[in-house]
Amino acid sequence: MYLIDGQSPQSGGISLRAYPQGHILNAIFQTHDLVDGRLALSEVMFREFDSEIEFLMKELRKHRLAKQGWTIDREFRGNDTFQAMVGGGEGQYRIDIAAGTLLVTLSAAIELCALEEDSATAGLSNQYRPGENSIRCLFPGVQEPDEAGFDALGLALDACLLLYFHELAHAIHGHCDYRPNNDDEARALESDADFNAGTMFGVWVWHLPATYRKPKLEEDMYRRLIRASYLLGTLLKAVSARSTEYHHPTNRVRTFLAGGVFAFDSLGKSTKFDDVKAGDDYWEQKIILHCASIKDALGRSTLKAFQGTEIDIEEDRRQMEEITAHVLNRLKDGPLMHFKLKI
Ligand SMILES: [Zn+2]
Repeated sequence: MYLIDGQSPQSGGISLRAYPQGHILNAIFQTHDLVDGRLALSEVMFREFDSEIEFLMKELRKHRLAKQGWTIDREFRGNDTFQAMVGGGEGQYRIDIAAGTLLVTLSAAIELCALEEDSATAGLSNQYRPGENSIRCLFPGVQEPDEAGFDALGLALDACLLLYFHELAHAIHGHCDYRPNNDDEARALESDADFNAGTMFGVWVWHLPATYRKPKLEEDMYRRLIRASYLLGTLLKAVSARSTEYHHPTNRVRTFLAGGVFAFDSLGKSTKFDDVKAGDDYWEQKIILHCASIKDALGRSTLKAFQGTEIDIEEDRRQMEEITAHVLNRLKDGPLMHFKLKI
């Protein structure tokens, strides 16, 4: 079975044998006129993301998949929408990432980073004409690739990694082999994929091949996971026709981070709490601390319509705690147990 996150496909687009560059990018993004600095920046995004995933997948195959006779392949697809999917069954899966996913994420990251307080890229805060937004219109104001800044590139790469890990989690935890019976079950699978994506992020991002991408301090890691979760949650809610099956971005951050904390604890990279409530409060404060600036930026951005109201967010949180969590426990103790990758 296929699980799709993001825009539903009009057409999946051709399968690409390698990450797209140059004229292939132009062919995929025909209506975006990617030239000069904008094309160069797009090429960087694909090159960096591909090298990170290639490195991590090699390790995963060697240490986890091969032993169980599992394969998980991956492909880029030549379409300009924000969409990731995973399909297959019984230990043989493939993750497809539409090319648009990377550039839409980069575009939104550039806009949000430019709109943050004291931004070094504030010059890019006003790239859009009325009615345009950073999902449909890819960084129109960028002239040189460096102009977008390392913050935005790093945030976009982190959010794309997290999405890729989310798809990987769908495969590894048996979701592709199970057909959900209703929206509650679909939300439970999404929530499980978020938690496990957070764990993968918390374990693997320390080991990324490029030095500039390795977190220097633990706090840097927490900040990156929280901001990437917030951006990814916002984009998925914004582009998805399955929007009702997703929890609100603010609440999804908690699930991604909970998965991350599970990893930090087992690696000895976080404060340990005997008291559950004290631990929850500690991490809640981290979310508030590291989300504040990007949340404010979202409120000033072309994507502000996707922010949601306090009432929506509270209601969504209640549903998450009262329904999704229980449905997920039932699935994990039941059908998913048979399908997931054995350790
Ligand atoms: Zn999903």
